[in-house]
This record gives sequence, C-alpha cells and structure tokens, in this order.
Amino acid sequence: MKRSPNSNGNDSKKASSSKTRAFLRRLIGYSEKIFGLSDEILAKISDRRPAPRIPTAVSLKASVAMFWARLGSLNALETVSSARFWQEWIGRTLCSADTLGRVHAQLNCDGMRSGLHHIYERLKRNKGLPLNLGRDVAVLDGHESHASYRRHCRGCLRRIITTERGERVQFYHRNVTLMLLPGPLPDRAPLRLLLDEEPQRPGEDEVATALRLLTRVLAAYPRVFDLLLADGLYAKAPFFNFLLHHGKHVLVVLKDERRNLYQDVQGLFQLVPPQPGRYRQRECRWWDFADLVSWPQVKVPLRVVRSLETYSVRSQLTKELVQQTSDWIWVTTLPSAQLCTERAVAMGHQRWDIENHGFNELVNEWHADHVYKHDAGAIEAFLLVVSLAYNIFHAFIALNLKPQIRLGKPQIFWARLIAAELYAEAGRILFGLPP
Ligand SMILES: [Zn+2]
Repeated sequence: MKRSPNSNGNDSKKASSSKTRAFLRRLIGYSEKIFGLSDEILAKISDRRPAPRIPTAVSLKASVAMFWARLGSLNALETVSSARFWQEWIGRTLCSADTLGRVHAQLNCDGMRSGLHHIYERLKRNKGLPLNLGRDVAVLDGHESHASYRRHCRGCLRRIITTERGERVQFYHRNVTLMLLPGPLPDRAPLRLLLDEEPQRPGEDEVATALRLLTRVLAAYPRVFDLLLADGLYAKAPFFNFLLHHGKHVLVVLKDERRNLYQDVQGLFQLVPPQPGRYRQRECRWWDFADLVSWPQVKVPLRVVRSLETYSVRSQLTKELVQQTSDWIWVTTLPSAQLCTERAVAMGHQRWDIENHGFNELVNEWHADHVYKHDAGAIEAFLLVVSLAYNIFHAFIALNLKPQIRLGKPQIFWARLIAAELYAEAGRILFGLPP
C-alpha cells in the first residue's frame, strides 16, 4: 500500500525525534544506574535557604543539564524551560534564572564535594581508573576564571592595573583545581576526573590555597594519588614537605633560576654527558641526577631530570619542516628505582593535561568561566557542578558508548545532541506541535 505523504512525514518526524531524544535520556539513565545521581548524590546536598519551597536537588538537576547541553548561561536555560524533559527530570517546571542563582549562592559545597568523591569511588570500584605508568597520579594548578573593573563581591581578589586612564583596581576570581590522571583503558582514552576545586582567598598565595584543598582531599580519600604533578610555581619547600608528610611524592617544573638547586644542576649539565632518549616523536637528550641536597629546606634529597627535546614542525608560511627544541627541567622526590627517566619525562609532560583536558575544555566548551551569578558562593558552587557534570559525561562517553558509535566524533558532538534535544522540544511547544 502506498503511504500518503502526510503519514510518511509523521513517521519520519517521530523516528528522528526519538533518535535525537535518546542521548540525554541515555546519559541520565547511566548516571542513575552507575552513580545513583538523584538519590545518592543530589538528594543529599542542601543549601542555606531558611525555608526552601523548592528542593536543592531540583536546582542542581537544572544546572547539571545546563552544563551537559553547554547552554552557557541561566538565561539560555530559561529559553528551553518549556521542553517536556524538565517534567521528566525534575518532576516540575524549571525554576527561574534568579532562583537558580540564589540556590547556588547558598549551596553547602561540602555536599557537592561528597558527590564528586562518590563518583570517584564508583569508578574506582568498577575498574574505570587504572594506574598511570604504575602509579596513582594527580595534577594540580591554579586558574583565573574572570576579571572585571566594575563588578565585585566579597570573594573577589584585587590587583592594581596600569591603564591609559591611570591605575585602576581590577577584581578577579582564581581557584586551584585538582585533576586525577588515570592511565588509559584498553582501546580507550584515559578517563580524567576533576576531583575538587578551592577558591583562592583575598590576601593568600596560590600555594596556600592548594594546601587547603589537599588537606581536605587527603582527609577524605588518602589513597587517591601517590604522585602529584604541578607547575613551577609549586616548587616551594612547604608544598614538598606537606606532601612528604602525607606519604606522597611530587614532581614539578624547576624554573626558578635563583634557587641553589637550579644553579647546581646547571653546572652538572655542563660536566655530565646526556643519555639519548625518545618522547613521542621527539629525539631527546636526558640528564638525571639523584640525591641532590642543595635545597635543604625540603626534608629529603631531591632528584632533577632534564629533557632537551628536538622535533620538526611544518611552517604554515613556507610549508617547510622547521626544527624546534624544547628544554624541560623537573624536580621530584621520587627516586629512579620507583620511576625511571623515561617515565619521569612522560610524567613531566602530563602536567599539561590539566590545561589541555581541564581548563581549556571547561572554558571553551563548558562555559565554566561564565559568571552565572557574581557571588563567591555561587562561583564556587557552579564550578563544583560543572566538575560533576564533566566527570559523569566523560565516564559515559568512555565507558558506556560502543566504540563504533563513539569513534571519530569530537565530544562537542554529544553536547550538541543534548542541546538539540532540549531546543527541539521547546520549539515544538512554541509552535503548538505535539510533543
Ligand atoms: Zn567577585
């Protein structure tokens, strides 16, 4: 029987609608089954409103979905408030942008952090977080989320900037983030997790912020990492000694030319011939010196590894191969018996993972630097929510999607599917079409 054009059109609409709807519902199904997202995580988080009419979890479900769809603002979220998804997901209509901002400003962030810990525990138990070159590795770094000359709050840091109009006070927020760097799973990319973040407070330096974060994390899950990677800023004796006291190792960039240790190894580089090595496609010359005692403020002798790397890049202008070199020096508490030179160099380079897979992705794709509400509590809360959304999203892509579906698609593809689902539903309501 020949179908009428009308019925054919309806069928195809129904089919494409169910296909585009599938992804967000599947992500939520996974979140509930593996992590108990609603009951085990979100329902246990509270806020400080005296007599809340709307449960905290309702607001959190809205912001988690906003991040998954990469909508970029609470106002953009409001534009898809008519999607029938919200009734299914939060059991009521979506609350206003104002309410969402207010709830997040008063959120008890400890509950969000327990939720991040819960995700880590489940993934660890499910063997989703294997060792990285034989170790449990984490990386830590600071990140400035935004700056403004006009808007400020009680949590703002301030600095003087010299401008064409003279000296001006600039307000900004900065946080320290801790990311877990597990090894890759068979045929899959590593599943990197955002474990925690801590706002830098007015008047303190970044290392003090990092120590507050690490004190909290190591009290809650003392075995989460045994090696911590960090930038040269963290080559500070109190940082090293804190980690040694907790039975942890540290590997950081050594770039402070004023430090005796730096000056001593510069002398050794002149005297001792390097060993040849290879990092990815790069020809390297490696130096590896152990038992160095020229930084007596650190409680153990230290090891310095240098990698002088040569590689070719094609010039965009001339299209010819141009040889480049990069020179890396790291200082670590780990002896070579526990981490050979080759692995130490690989670990040194992994310090960039928090930039490439953490901050860059969070800012450019997840809109994590957007000021959803300019309030110290809200900024901290939204960063923790985006961390939760990031971890669940990446676990779903890496562990649940079949390779033939997953391969060849950038992760933004999946985010756009989620947004498409919400916009399509809101659009159908707008034009009076059946849902
Ligand atoms: Zn502020």
